[in-house]
Amino acid sequence: MRIANLNGRAVLLRGETALDIARASMGRFGPEPLAVFSDWASFVDWAPLADFAGAVSFDENDLLAPVPNPSQIFAIGLNYKDHAEESGLDYPEHLVVFTKFASALAGPNVEVTLPSEFVDYETELVVVIGVETSDADETQARASIAGFSVGQDYSERNVQRRGPAPQFSLGKSYANFAPFGPAVVTLDELLDPDQLAIGAVLEGPSAVDHGGRWTVQDGNTSELIFPVARIISDLSHIVTLRPGDVIFTGTPAGVGMGRGIFLKPGDVLTSTIGGLGSIRNQFV
Ligand code: ZN
Repeated sequence: MRIANLNGRAVLLRGETALDIARASMGRFGPEPLAVFSDWASFVDWAPLADFAGAVSFDENDLLAPVPNPSQIFAIGLNYKDHAEESGLDYPEHLVVFTKFASALAGPNVEVTLPSEFVDYETELVVVIGVETSDADETQARASIAGFSVGQDYSERNVQRRGPAPQFSLGKSYANFAPFGPAVVTLDELLDPDQLAIGAVLEGPSAVDHGGRWTVQDGNTSELIFPVARIISDLSHIVTLRPGDVIFTGTPAGVGMGRGIFLKPGDVLTSTIGGLGSIRNQFV
């Protein structure tokens, strides 16, 4: 199933229609998107039987962040070998972890105001947690996943890298720097969640020399240095993961930093993960 946030209310998406979860369940779940993940075991029992008779068509520009207010947001750095190489850094021995502050979360199709000339993109598989988890092995970690989504980890590279000891989190937390969606897709919809094509296409001024449409990222989640279950397991030995928590799992090669470019006003970036959908952001 595909769980989304339509104008602040939790919905199930099917085809071109959206079913309001609170109304269809007569108040048992929702309407707050986080409430669905907080009662995950009951929700996965109910949702497959939901009656879609009350579903309505919707405008995808009305989709907001599938979880707008998680208790924690984790982001993993240098988690694809080819991205570590283009960054000129060694493969990490341990998870490289930072946060994107919650005020940076946004829906899948938002406009992003560039705060400087040094903003970069990172297309990422996003994991949403459905079960409170601590000290998990990888089997327990897998069982804690509610679903997956498509995200962008936009980064102001100067702010990210300045200081005697760089602090990633603020440079990655300007408004709308953490869009994700269009929905949280549960594992039963995916053939193999560890092998998803992940990529991004850039259009606009930055793509002029590439025929107006430039495939800047083209990877696969099978190339993750720390796969999703390992990320959750390692995190859970230090922090307790809670329902609705969000994890950005890292980006494959092809970011602007590796290509010698930054995003320009008028650019449009479409990020896609196989089986999960696309998100599309315009820059001003
Ligand atoms: Zn990232």
